[in-house]
Amino acid sequence: MALIVQKFGGTSVGDADRIRAVADHIARTRRQGDDVVAVVSAMGKSTDELLRLADAVSSDPPPREMDMLLTSGERISMSLLCMALADLGIKAASFTGSQAGIITDTDHTRAKILEIRPDRLAAAIADGVVPVVAGFQGVSTEKDITTLGRGGSDVTAVALGAALDAAVCEIYTDVTGVFSADPRVVPDARRLTRVSFDEMLEMAATGGRVLMLRSVEFARNHHVPLHVRSSFTWEPGTWVVEEDQSMEQAIVSAVTHDATEAKVTVAGVPDRPGIAAHLFRALADRSINVDMIVQNTSANGTTDISFTVPRVDLDDAVAAAESLSGEMGFAGVSSDSSIARVSLVGAGMKSYPGVTATMFETLAELGINIEMISTSSIRISCVVDESVVEEALRALHAAFGLGG
Ligand code: ASP
Ligand code: MG
Repeated sequence: MALIVQKFGGTSVGDADRIRAVADHIARTRRQGDDVVAVVSAMGKSTDELLRLADAVSSDPPPREMDMLLTSGERISMSLLCMALADLGIKAASFTGSQAGIITDTDHTRAKILEIRPDRLAAAIADGVVPVVAGFQGVSTEKDITTLGRGGSDVTAVALGAALDAAVCEIYTDVTGVFSADPRVVPDARRLTRVSFDEMLEMAATGGRVLMLRSVEFARNHHVPLHVRSSFTWEPGTWVVEEDQSMEQAIVSAVTHDATEAKVTVAGVPDRPGIAAHLFRALADRSINVDMIVQNTSANGTTDISFTVPRVDLDDAVAAAESLSGEMGFAGVSSDSSIARVSLVGAGMKSYPGVTATMFETLAELGINIEMISTSSIRISCVVDESVVEEALRALHAAFGLGG
């Protein structure tokens, strides 16, 4: 008999039928003898609808009130699920983030969990009750209601899994697992049976949309195995687990793509200590997350620096660079918002030469120009023009034999 955290995303609780199907599944799990803690997202697209409402009444909604509003979505799904469970004769009780003991910092709309006090949940489990917890929310050290950022129910589920020492955290969604590439772009993409936390982190950070990045970090740091699976077919999906050193690693496990970033190039940057520090401090002061950075070798004492930022922050980033232009003596600031990134991810590439060469050859054969390159020990990313990214993805998927 194990404790299983089961997290159900928005589509999994999208309407009354779906909520009853989820209740059936929880009842089935209970009959098998396991304890369950359920974590739910808001129904369907209701968080987006609440955001639209906020936008319609205010040009700049106060973050505290935004959080109060957004957490209402999860309250609806958690109470409805408990009602459906009661109908099946399963004892269940709903808990808001605050009632579940999820304590966060005061950073509204993107709060971080500081501590979990799971005594109420533990007591419920001991009484044979299934706690149904509202995802994506907590209570701050100032006793205000907070949210954990979009997609934050995954974080709730993993954090509760860690706090309650669950055997597994099952993430139910509308796809059957994690794939070797986005199946909408690459028709013969395969479902992966098992990936390591590190691979999943790289995938989540480079465009794999199945799991929220922070939840994977949390799962890795607290050793909570994840099982990503479908609430429409209920078949086994993809396990995200600690790397198994005894097993042969796949050289490349997946290819990902992402077209949410833009490129900024600062030309004629004086090649002196401290200049780059100034530039990137200015970006950091505006809370802009810089991703890839490339600096050319200097000629005549100046160099070019290119970097990528989220597209939503592009105007801000350009303004930050331009504001330094006079003082630092930059020759100019330009930008390109039609870039995309393709990445190869695989734990086995650490000890296997030639992956980069094959990647570049594959792109070269298609006449695709590589604008920027970045690597980690288990990932290679290339920035290319957005118009060719899907073609690049299909070609790389084939070149590394990832098809089904
Ligand atoms: N309902 C929230 C959102 O749409 C949290 C979640 O689904 O994980 O972002
Ligand atoms: Mg979600």
